[in-house]
Amino acid sequence: MAITDFERYPLTFGPSPIHELPRLSEHLGGAKIWAKREDVNSGLAFGGNKTRKLEYIVPDAIAQGADTLVSIGGYQSNHTRQVAAVAAKLGMKARLVQENWVDWADPLSDRVGNILLSRIMGAEVTLDNAGFDIGIRSSWEQAIAEVEEAGGKPYAIPAGASEHHLGGLGFANWAYEVEQQEKDLGVFFDTIIVCTVTGSTHAGMIAGFAGQDKPRRVIGIDASATIEKTRAQVARIARHTAELIGLGRELRDDEITVLEGWAGDYYGIPVESTMEAIRLSGSLEAMIIDLVYEGKSMAGLIDLVKSKDIPETSNVLYAHLGGQLALNAYSGLFR
Ligand SMILES: *Cc1c(COP(=O)(O)O)cnc(C)c1O
Repeated sequence: MAITDFERYPLTFGPSPIHELPRLSEHLGGAKIWAKREDVNSGLAFGGNKTRKLEYIVPDAIAQGADTLVSIGGYQSNHTRQVAAVAAKLGMKARLVQENWVDWADPLSDRVGNILLSRIMGAEVTLDNAGFDIGIRSSWEQAIAEVEEAGGKPYAIPAGASEHHLGGLGFANWAYEVEQQEKDLGVFFDTIIVCTVTGSTHAGMIAGFAGQDKPRRVIGIDASATIEKTRAQVARIARHTAELIGLGRELRDDEITVLEGWAGDYYGIPVESTMEAIRLSGSLEAMIIDLVYEGKSMAGLIDLVKSKDIPETSNVLYAHLGGQLALNAYSGLFR
């Protein structure tokens, strides 16, 4: 099997754009920084990285005759918003369990941004008081059972679409897309920076790039302060995905790099470096990033470039995975 043997249901515009970030690069005084923009990859409710993963999961849902996509996330989950969008696009229903993953006292966090859009798109949203966990949850299993009892045909998509056997394929394909764009642009990206939480974005990239055999670092930046769990999950999904796409060898441990240091203490709670990264990206490049995910991975990029851990001669590709809508639940921080 190779990546091209898997069916891909088109939900994105095609290859996501890559462009330079010249003012940010100059400001940091080191490597040249570029961005690949999953935040503008689709016309479906602002898209994002989960839309790309879902392109490889939807054919399985259709084949199984599902009529309801069931998924789970935090109140401001980007993932569940993208599941709601895909369900609307396919003419299916969406049943979403939204848990209280973040201890953030904004009175609008269960009303604005992502959850608002899911409701507009007709998803059935249930709020649940459970805290952050990337594993399999009983509330989600309950929702699946309820859809069945009501005579529906549920299709289960776990948090972030990561613990799904096809969850890594979307970003394995991203790696091949980058390879083609490198040819078109005449650049080689020796360093990729990506935010890592449920793991299949980073894991998919690792599997996809492993087949290219080029001197490239694919650096995941932890954004949930659960580093051991995250490393284990990324490694497991990367190895599984590599096998699916017929890599033909074991992944080495040095191909799996998740760095910690920019997550702060909790998932969903920004620290000073997150806020600084958001202000810099916004004021220098008008590139808007959020404080749950991309603000943390950008903070990592900033430090690694400034410290020359990423050498000055490098071309760095920052994977912008979307997520700006969640900013609406944190407006107090920018008053
Ligand atoms: C889900 C998400 C991530 C993390 O991706 P995983 O595949 O869960 O590791 C990063 N950024 C944004 C905006 C996301 O929605």
